[in-house]
Amino acid sequence: MKRFFVWFTVLSASLSACGCGNEAPEHVRSVDTAMGTVIQQNLYLSDSGTDCTEDILELIRRLETDILSWREETSEVYRVNHAAGSEEGVELSDELSQVMAQCLELSENTEGAFDVTLGSIIRLWDIDSWASGLTEGEYQVPDGQAIVQALARCGRNRLHAKSWTDAQGGMRLTLYPDTGVLLDLGAVGKGLALDYILEKIEEEPAVTGCTISVGGSVLTYGTKPDKTAWRVGIADPEDPSRNIGVLYLEGCWCVSTSGDYERYVESGGVRYHHILDPSTGWPADSGLRCVTIVAKEGLISDALSTACFVLGSEKGLELASKYGVEALFVETDGGICMTPGMEEIFHGDGTDR
Ligand code: AMP
Ligand code: MG
Repeated sequence: MKRFFVWFTVLSASLSACGCGNEAPEHVRSVDTAMGTVIQQNLYLSDSGTDCTEDILELIRRLETDILSWREETSEVYRVNHAAGSEEGVELSDELSQVMAQCLELSENTEGAFDVTLGSIIRLWDIDSWASGLTEGEYQVPDGQAIVQALARCGRNRLHAKSWTDAQGGMRLTLYPDTGVLLDLGAVGKGLALDYILEKIEEEPAVTGCTISVGGSVLTYGTKPDKTAWRVGIADPEDPSRNIGVLYLEGCWCVSTSGDYERYVESGGVRYHHILDPSTGWPADSGLRCVTIVAKEGLISDALSTACFVLGSEKGLELASKYGVEALFVETDGGICMTPGMEEIFHGDGTDR
């Protein structure tokens, strides 16, 4: 049995038209798919503004096809993966150089819990097929030996990187993956999309406020016409159609959640989820059901939600404090713990204030 759950984290009450006078911003909404997930946009535009939801969608699709996809020949990640083992290495674009530099640093700072070189083990578990419903019949869990062999093709120490400065003075990377090493940026793609969207929206003065949800990551920006806070729900891992609470956010934030209920497969009555512990090659088992991170940057919120899920609440809290982000952990026994700053923005039980 396979299941893929996409839930809408931005609460509908925050999306209703304001019903004010003529000066009220126009409210534009759209729901589409891109990056294998649901994109939900809610934009408030001033009088002079034109609807830019299509441009934002196009931006997300280009990020996938030009940079992140491991399936599409057009992408840089595909090019790196197909050059694994070559002596020449692969020169990265300015964009992917910046992303990879951050990812490699995150890998160091999370004791390898966050690791973008897990492509071989992610392919072995066939995680993307669970999401797209491509798994036929009863799912076969990889055997222990296959996991050990795939793990031997993963790891930060098997990806060599040389940094250099381009003609414009920008930092660039050339990557030299060992034979068999495959990149997978699935743990940061949605958050990175938020960073790209924010850059675009900041150039659109007509956008007075918005919430944009890319799968499990949500961007809040600007203000609502009624000046109340943006409200982002945190799903209950037991029943993701319900919320355990709501985040109240003012202005610009990136919210990412990693949870065992988002993508999983069942076999022999056991559930296997999509966040792998790089030290074992098996789904992480750190006593958590989900982690939500609130940060200023989407790449950071997305990477840290994955890393904290692998590390567990104690080390996760330390990591959150190191990066100056807010974090909320739901434990397998239903307990909730969070950073002090999260206590100020989180309102439990999904109740309004
Ligand atoms: P997220 O939902 O953001 O936590 O990302 C999970 C996705 O990232 C998975 O579907 C895999 O593609 C990939 N992934 C799984 N485990 C890890 C890990 N420990 N580090 C980095 N990427 C991972
Ligand atoms: Mg993530």
